[in-house]
Amino acid sequence: VTASEFETVANVASEATPRGAVVMKFGEASVADAEGITRVASKLVAAHERGARVVGVVSAMGRATQELVDLARQVSPSPDPRELDMLLSVGERISCALVAMAINDLGREAVSLTGSQAGIITDGAHNRARIVEIRATRIRDALDSDRIVLVAGFQGMSEGRDITTLGRGGSDTTAVALAAALDAGACEIYADSGGILTADPRLVPDARKLGSLTYEEMLELAASGVETLQLRSVEFARNHGVPLHVRPTFGDAMGTWITEEDEHVEKPIISSVAHTVDEAVYRVQGAAPAELFAALAGKDVSVDTIIQTGADVIVFSAPLDERGATAGTLDELGATWSERSDLGKISLVGAGMKSHPGVAARTFATLRSLRVEPQFISTSPIKIAFYVHHGDVDRVVRALHAAFELGSQTGEQG
Ligand code: ASP
Ligand code: MG
Repeated sequence: VTASEFETVANVASEATPRGAVVMKFGEASVADAEGITRVASKLVAAHERGARVVGVVSAMGRATQELVDLARQVSPSPDPRELDMLLSVGERISCALVAMAINDLGREAVSLTGSQAGIITDGAHNRARIVEIRATRIRDALDSDRIVLVAGFQGMSEGRDITTLGRGGSDTTAVALAAALDAGACEIYADSGGILTADPRLVPDARKLGSLTYEEMLELAASGVETLQLRSVEFARNHGVPLHVRPTFGDAMGTWITEEDEHVEKPIISSVAHTVDEAVYRVQGAAPAELFAALAGKDVSVDTIIQTGADVIVFSAPLDERGATAGTLDELGATWSERSDLGKISLVGAGMKSHPGVAARTFATLRSLRVEPQFISTSPIKIAFYVHHGDVDRVVRALHAAFELGSQTGEQG
């Protein structure tokens, strides 16, 4: 491996670091106010005192990003993507500068860096840029002089030297990419939920925190409505073998480890029941699949479930907030189409499903006992997903959680 001035993620990852680095990422709720900022500062200092080389990645404070998005929309109905990135990147700059100040007051040296100062190089796709390289020299120098380094999440700089952002939830991806570049032992994601749960606790009061998950399970969950981790951050972690630890912001309790599957460990049949009501389902007639999906991809519509029913009919789902782009594309193609936004998707995810038959049987028996008719059923080796009417989502999630004995009352897995 040759060391160049511009090190790629892969190059850096193979370098030995003198002391173990840890990347700790704090979400918007953890840094929502001055008190939160101080608490995050103490957590970073405590990790530094334990001897680690500490990199902190923070989200914008509370609802700051959303407020900036709303503000931009008041000024311009569809804001220029480059200027939107200039605006949105500010949120994370604020929080990381504040955390650095608080650390300095605790008697430690800290330095805050924007994404571009930190050497995070992305492609030029504004508002949803991908990290292509990390030139971590500056971070490493600061760590070498024993500083705690704060990096503004969710942002980078394109090769054309424009500020870019990584898509909503992108601070997770910043953290994982830095962990890969610095060869950190783990990437710690501090979240209010304290980990990944067997279901959304707002629907299922006895939902339980999972001790571990595989990357594959977490990818399915992140694509199925679990927002604790940005989907891309999980892909990045899997591709670079970065262990993820989703932990509670308060206290020192263990959270959920997300790692490569261990063939020797028996996996729960179902790990979690996820749901989302943020998708619309489209039924399209008279469009060839190749053209249809090429056109949707061209408009950046993230298509999920695809089902071909009959020779001429295609059903697919896409996020509700991409409705305008989806409708525009379908009209341009001259297809006959209809849309349903009154459906919610429920997904059962579990790595143990691969080796245990009967999951579908138990799922559909449970639905029948509730007199709920599932629609647009789709599967992967570790997932069963289907749609039900919005009004049925809550009770279906609760019933399946109970049927697979996932709760803290009944659960057998620790
Ligand atoms: N602040 C950004 C957002 O709200 C990025 C993040 O929090 O991860 O999406
Ligand atoms: Mg997030």
